Amino acid sequence: MTQSTTNSPASAAQGARPTSNRPIRIALVGIGKIAQDQHIPALRNDSSYELVAAVSRSRGIEGLPRFADIASLAQSGLAVDAVSFCTPPVGRYAMARAALEAGFHVMLEKPPGATVAEVHDLAERARARGRTLFATWHSRESAAVDPARDWLAQRTIKSVRTDWKEDIRHWHPGQDWILEPGGFGVFDPGINALSIMTTILPERLRVQKATLHFPSNRQAPIAAQIDLVHGTDTPVVVELDFLKTGPQQWDIQVETNDGTLLLREGGRRLFINGEERVSAEDREYPRLYQRFAALVAAGASDVDVTPHQIVADAFMIGRRLEAAAFEF
Ligand code: NAP
Repeated sequence: MTQSTTNSPASAAQGARPTSNRPIRIALVGIGKIAQDQHIPALRNDSSYELVAAVSRSRGIEGLPRFADIASLAQSGLAVDAVSFCTPPVGRYAMARAALEAGFHVMLEKPPGATVAEVHDLAERARARGRTLFATWHSRESAAVDPARDWLAQRTIKSVRTDWKEDIRHWHPGQDWILEPGGFGVFDPGINALSIMTTILPERLRVQKATLHFPSNRQAPIAAQIDLVHGTDTPVVVELDFLKTGPQQWDIQVETNDGTLLLREGGRRLFINGEERVSAEDREYPRLYQRFAALVAAGASDVDVTPHQIVADAFMIGRRLEAAAFEF
């Protein structure tokens, strides 16, 4: 169940709304893997945007000015309408708050913050300042997600099973922050599954039981099993594994009164009773930036913490088991 809260800013007149014929002048914050793989290409191929700066401690974007922090960007005199955050969740709140206070519209990578309360706080500040806040969930933009939601809306759901299993060493080489407190561990990819599930399933998901496996030398889980309930009593099982070698698995399987729905490859492919119905190339980030431009133009925000809350609940209720020490 998606619980988007679309908040109209207090005063649209205060907002630095670009007119339809002027691109949104945007700065990227944190020039790491996802900024380079997805954000920069998506922005460079979208005429609604002009990429004007990097905010980074270590790495710039060729041909653009680089600023060490949001304060330096704000004081530089460079014309900027928006900033997009590609930093890890810990530390993002202070920077996003500074960006809103500087009058910028703000887009956040998933997970939107280190804690749920941080995100609520940013949403309130955005509304008070008349700025757009967009807490993104890129996996919701996968091609098969909307068709899956529409198909399920007409059926009775009997059970759900999610397997989200990938190799941390392949996808996140050297990213020690991911296994630090607030790094989310296996929930960094796992929250993508939860973002899809909370979109395609019509009723609320509640965590009932969780087992979290923490490497003896790390502060975040490397694997997890979560039992949830959908609606009143529909069982939902989620298996997360960050040590999967060989074929990777990002699957959500839903048993209904009318057969089986299977989302594969992170929401890119949809099968109904074994027959492939959707398969499409990845356009998640171009779609996210189109949505952000539409929100800015409308003077609106989109902040849904539902997947984030499920992770927080799993940490709150979960049984902690010690696993073997982990090194990249
Ligand atoms: P990354 O490669 O480690 O890059 C993060 C960047 O953030 C760093 O290069 C650094 O850039 C900046 N940064 C600021 N404070 C930092 C800190 N305390 N520790 C480490 N870096 C810090 O991470 P990423 O994979 O791009 O992930 C960033 C965010 O995007 C995360 O929330 C992640 O969940 C999300 N995401 C990642 C992927 C993926 O496939 N990797 C996919 C979708 C979403 P500067 O040196 O420029 O400051």
